[in-house]
Amino acid sequence: MSSTSGDGTPGRVLVVEDDPVTGRFLTYLLGERGGFDVTHTTDPAAALQDVRSQTWDLVVTDVEMPGMTGIQLLRQLRQISPHLPVAVLTAHASFDNVVSALRDDADEFLEKTVPPDQLLATVGSLVAKGRAARLANRQAVLAIGAHPDDVEIGAAGALLAHRGMGHEVSILTLSRGARGGPESTRAGESEMAALAIGADLYLEDLHDTSIAEGDPTIATISRVVQIVRPTVIYTHSLHDLHQDHRNTHQAAMVAGREVGRVYCFQSPSATVDFRPNHFVTIDDQLEGKLLAIGSFASQTQVRDYLKPDLIESTARYWSRFSDGLYAEAFEVIRDAVTASLSDAPHPPAAVGPTEGAS
Ligand SMILES: [Zn+2]
Repeated sequence: MSSTSGDGTPGRVLVVEDDPVTGRFLTYLLGERGGFDVTHTTDPAAALQDVRSQTWDLVVTDVEMPGMTGIQLLRQLRQISPHLPVAVLTAHASFDNVVSALRDDADEFLEKTVPPDQLLATVGSLVAKGRAARLANRQAVLAIGAHPDDVEIGAAGALLAHRGMGHEVSILTLSRGARGGPESTRAGESEMAALAIGADLYLEDLHDTSIAEGDPTIATISRVVQIVRPTVIYTHSLHDLHQDHRNTHQAAMVAGREVGRVYCFQSPSATVDFRPNHFVTIDDQLEGKLLAIGSFASQTQVRDYLKPDLIESTARYWSRFSDGLYAEAFEVIRDAVTASLSDAPHPPAAVGPTEGAS
């Protein structure tokens, strides 16, 4: 049997089992013999955290554990990751009351006494199912900025939150910011910042301070859209004093017209007309955001808007519209609900926070 599928990486299996002996056995069987990438945890609460923050193809869980029953775990897993297959380990599948209670929720029941080869085969098909569902529900984020550091200032927290949910994240920076410092330095800084976020970087070479609203900007963004196939776009707001930012916004609206979710971030040059209606809590991402912005060391000395206390206090301010201590603010151009209306040039913006990286 094969433990890999699709992109060739081993299927990722999370085993939740409070009995260490059974846990070790499953880790050995699925990992060493099956070739899966297996993580074993004895704590259901830790398992939920793992599912929130990483990408998995299958969860294998025991029924009875201290702190949380298999039923409770299963219900919560369904809320966090509806398409992730969950297999429940049982002693006797057919005679267990718990099993009948779980019948509707679990994808499969694995009897602990089943022969190893049979267990591996079942896990293999569940992993394939999980992988297929994950790819079908693939989320790819493209953040588009005119200059190095624009995307990081406006949306690094949200991008880190997307990464935490296993989404692909790419950054497109249209110019190398030659007017703001040595070009080679800022290119290296952009790469470090993208690395800190876990994003792929597309660093283009349009002329700083004269980025056009038409071509070549539209063609440049379109090319990256073709490669990344984003489901979510973040870019500049139209409500911005800097012409490069406004033109990047306009070009992104054209190049990204097929994309279902489009949000505009705040730049230091945003005007008072920047009126966000989508807020992403970034309490867990603030540190990472500051780290990413810290990559632009050649600028932090000369640009006040890159100072950590300003980044932090801006996020602190926007948290009054979110449920945490720090937030990033976005104007909604389109969200998934209106995706089918995306042929319209300027659909009405949604009101209020929408489902997203919060
Ligand atoms: Zn800029």
